[in-house]
Amino acid sequence: MTINLLPMATPDLLWQVTRNDAAKSAEARAAILADPGFGKHFTDHMVDICWSEKGGWHRPRVQPYGPISLDPAAAVLHYAQEVFEGLKAYRHADGSIWTFRPEANAARMQRSAKRLALPELPVEYFLESLKQLIAVDGDWVPTAPETSLYLRPFMFAKEAFLGVRPAAKVNYYLIASPAGAYFTGGVTPVAIWLSTQYARAGKGGTGAAKTGGNYASSLVAQAEAYDHGCAQVLFLDGSGTYLEELGGMNVVLVTKDGRLITPESDSILEGITLDSVLQLGRDRGLKVEQRPVPLQEWVDGVASGEIVEAFACGTAAVLTPISELKGEHVSIVMPEPSGERVSMSLRQELTDIQYGRVPDRHNWLMRLDA
Ligand SMILES: *Cc1c(COP(=O)(O)O)cnc(C)c1O
Repeated sequence: MTINLLPMATPDLLWQVTRNDAAKSAEARAAILADPGFGKHFTDHMVDICWSEKGGWHRPRVQPYGPISLDPAAAVLHYAQEVFEGLKAYRHADGSIWTFRPEANAARMQRSAKRLALPELPVEYFLESLKQLIAVDGDWVPTAPETSLYLRPFMFAKEAFLGVRPAAKVNYYLIASPAGAYFTGGVTPVAIWLSTQYARAGKGGTGAAKTGGNYASSLVAQAEAYDHGCAQVLFLDGSGTYLEELGGMNVVLVTKDGRLITPESDSILEGITLDSVLQLGRDRGLKVEQRPVPLQEWVDGVASGEIVEAFACGTAAVLTPISELKGEHVSIVMPEPSGERVSMSLRQELTDIQYGRVPDRHNWLMRLDA
């Protein structure tokens, strides 16, 4: 076991790096990277930074990937005080490793943390954690087209205490998981189930925070979607009138006259993929409308021929066309595209930027291996 103390970009923290003696061999790693799937395999190391009410953020470490020891009374296990993030590391043709808009993830994690009464991890520590992990696990970033290393930062209440109050002990972790091309054999449009019985968030709730509880409450609706042959579920607002978002992706409608329409609501997670796609849309002269969007507008717009496309977007699947929306009382079948879908062309442009195939004109990329 080798331990190095490395100065961090932020002068006040020293990183302790402990190499994994049981790291996968190059052959074993290559076998995993040949067919990584999603979220199934993990790299050899992880980042762990402690926080306490008294000591603030301290003891940043890179250590062998492995189980976390928790007291059975750890607050997260009882009251779900937890937030997370998701972003990717992309390998460019010259071998260098980059990530996409990580400051936006860092800032969002701070907003999520605030809502869950967790401490805010400074943006520099967040960015440094990505670099530290790539410094030891860079070989885990796959090279095949449209593959990546999915980065999962998360933070939770570790204090052993059954009273209900914000925990005085919290840990931030970063793990990484190689991800294959999300769609093998081309991107296929997906059918979406409209949940009318369940909502994912309510007014004043935690819908805008990236927190496990939102996912826990979406699982029965997701199961209902599968039962109806749908890949994902779309939630409406509490009144059942307006579109919110999918379980883990934002939703966008495209009109014949070149508008991108996406719901605005304070209970929607602010997607970085969504924000980027809207920017790319504006760049090519599309008009962006971020406002409350009634479900009825989608129904009527498809019937009249005004709405020609719908798509879902998020880091994991990037951008996925929606073929149909099914529900107890609703059925929307999207028309066959007459030419190239706007959604597919935006997807291509976004991934071209992420993989360094076109200039990064918005300065969205950050290098991780230098
Ligand atoms: C993470 C997430 C998204 C997508 O956000 P990206 O930053 O684009 O990955 C959308 N909705 C929910 C509920 C999410 O958790």
